[in-house]
Amino acid sequence: MPYVAMAPAVRGTRLAAATARWDAILALRPDLAPAVELQRHLLGVIGRLADTIEEGRFPRLSLPSNYLAAKLATGVPALSGEPIPLPVPLLKPALLELCEHLSRGGAGEAADHIRTALDETRMEAGSLLTASLKRDQAAIRTGAVHRGLAPDLLWLVAELAVSPFVYMLQQSLFSSAEPSSSLRSSTDAWRHGYCLSCGSWPVLAEVADGHRILRCSFCALAWELATHACVYCGHSGEKFVTAAPDGDRSDRRLEACGACGAYLKTADVAALSPFPLLAIADLETMELDTMAMEHGYARPPMKDFAKR
Ligand SMILES: [Zn+2]
Ligand SMILES: [Zn+2]
Repeated sequence: MPYVAMAPAVRGTRLAAATARWDAILALRPDLAPAVELQRHLLGVIGRLADTIEEGRFPRLSLPSNYLAAKLATGVPALSGEPIPLPVPLLKPALLELCEHLSRGGAGEAADHIRTALDETRMEAGSLLTASLKRDQAAIRTGAVHRGLAPDLLWLVAELAVSPFVYMLQQSLFSSAEPSSSLRSSTDAWRHGYCLSCGSWPVLAEVADGHRILRCSFCALAWELATHACVYCGHSGEKFVTAAPDGDRSDRRLEACGACGAYLKTADVAALSPFPLLAIADLETMELDTMAMEHGYARPPMKDFAKR
């Protein structure tokens, strides 16, 4: 059953879970205090946005179920190419606030420059957010370079601001699909390592009860693949290896693929992380990123569906 339905976490539960996880990180790695503090602020902004969106002040996206099923059957993610209006008046203040936290949290002037460019409308918030929703890395990079802004930071800020909205979109598209519907059959037949809702790669896989559940880095969708292979290129031969680099932490593993040079982190969990707590899962496993990169592996760039 590849698509994994998850109930949205309520605010109180989400906060308590986040706090417990941050405390656990700090107990082992006090040096990560600045990173945890920054994440607390960023997830605070994202959580408030998610609550506002959840309260239902925005129209839910509705795409005909059969249309969506046919689209997924060709390997194209649900949101790809769909014109989706974004609530820019709601998201722009969040963008500015995220820039302020990132500035204080270590990004400094690079974040201030983005904030000023948005504030003075030298960069239009609506176009930035739309490019992020479309996962258009080239457009965001070009826009950044033209204005002398840091491309990776601009990508991150936009992604954080849009994430509660794209999470709501995937929930409204998939969570209510009936088990016998054509939509549920096509989500269950999904065989790709990129997200069936937004097209992003997983941030990591959470392994719960022996199921390796991929978790979308953008919209937090949870899905499982039938085969154990590289999620990026499908290679399952001897160049695809799974290892626990830290002998004391066999619950945290790396899947590294020598065929395409990419890696995926996997972590055993008691329960899947609700949105937006996957960012904490990413921080908890950052040693795996360091080890993967030291061995020459990388996270691949976004898949481009426009050129298919
Ligand atoms: Zn997604
Ligand atoms: Zn691969």
